[in-house]
Amino acid sequence: MSGIVTRFAPSPTGLLHAGNYRTAVFAYLFAKHEDGTFIVRIEDTDRERSRPEYEANIFESLAWLDLPIDRQYRQSENAGRHRELLEKLVSAGSAYISKETPKNPGEREEVIRFRNPGGNISFPDVIRGDITMDVTDLGDFVIARSFEEPVFHLAVVVDDADEGVTHVIRGEDHIANTPRQILIQRALGFTTPVYAHVPLILDTDRTKLSKRKGAKALTEYRDQGVLPEAMLNYLAFLGWNPGDDREYFSRDALIETFDLARIQKGAAIFDETKLFSVNQHWMRTLSAEDFIMRGNLSANNQRTLYAIVPLLKERARTFAEARSVLALELAFFFSEPVLERDRLTIKEPPDRSGMTRPTLEKLAELIRTLPDGVSVEGVKETVMPFADAKETEGKGGRGAVLWPLRYALSGQERSPDPFTITAILGKDEALSRIQKAVGILEK
Ligand code: GLU
Repeated sequence: MSGIVTRFAPSPTGLLHAGNYRTAVFAYLFAKHEDGTFIVRIEDTDRERSRPEYEANIFESLAWLDLPIDRQYRQSENAGRHRELLEKLVSAGSAYISKETPKNPGEREEVIRFRNPGGNISFPDVIRGDITMDVTDLGDFVIARSFEEPVFHLAVVVDDADEGVTHVIRGEDHIANTPRQILIQRALGFTTPVYAHVPLILDTDRTKLSKRKGAKALTEYRDQGVLPEAMLNYLAFLGWNPGDDREYFSRDALIETFDLARIQKGAAIFDETKLFSVNQHWMRTLSAEDFIMRGNLSANNQRTLYAIVPLLKERARTFAEARSVLALELAFFFSEPVLERDRLTIKEPPDRSGMTRPTLEKLAELIRTLPDGVSVEGVKETVMPFADAKETEGKGGRGAVLWPLRYALSGQERSPDPFTITAILGKDEALSRIQKAVGILEK
């Protein structure tokens, strides 16, 4: 392993939305590209708002994305160390215990403040270039409410230094915190890590993506049947691209290609439609067997289920959609449709009423000649000349043949073409459905 260390440092004070994991993805990809270490630190210093279920969801989400963690811990585990360094800062005179006048009942009468030397703090940011901020106006800022209660700035600086974090990759909302953290690092004699502040993620309405506004948790996309490889691919492209027009990357290809310098400055948009189209791409790469297994699909006829996978791949962008297509639009493959006489004859020209029945009888005759296991092309070659003949004879056109056939087989207004349906149902089932349709017309 190289000496490169990155970390993802979420606070378990709420369910993180899918976009929040983009920071984890960048930190992971960069570390692995550099053959380094990826740490997850649960920032639970806010004891009141931190919840075990949110922490559990973070680990569940990272595991689902398949981002293996090299080291993980809770910030609260370092309380002793935070105290030790607070004491060190106070005894060195870099910080002091400050008497406060509580403005509200219950507020502290004492906090620990950092002695701010003021002036400019500059740091290079890999994404945004050199950043300089005047810290004078910050005054002597609070670094702990007591020796047992460090605030975020102190805890982050101590933990990052102790863990040897070389690159801090985090949201750009933390830029304003960085000068304070650099001051603390200097007072403690720590090296300043490399900073990469990644752009915000916006909703499609260009406002900040947020859980409060209904942004979904990562695990909700999992439950909706998004593939983790698709989500990872999508998240990696939120604010980053490889510099050419390739769009689909596996985890290993991302690790190989990822480069911090190519992260864009501008905000990225979380667009569910785009996510679903990336997901559809990854769904289409699966073998029929994997598609059925990973999509948790089942039906009363396994052979037919396998055969309709290409149709599901065309229609579904998530596995939830695939299950719904299977239960509704394509359910006729698994249970005989209920036909309506008027629908069956809808393409009959007015002067040729009654033609559907002989048409279906002729179709049955043609289909009977097909071999078992016939291909879609095979069905087409047998049926199409008959439909074409109706076209040239002006007897209602191809539709007068293909519609009743398709409707007899599917009972649907919209469905795959009748050749595909016949090939998948098989000759015997197709014939039986056509006979039933003929039966309806006899009544
Ligand atoms: N815990 C902080 C957050 O959830 C991240 C702090 C950091 O990355 O330095 O926003």
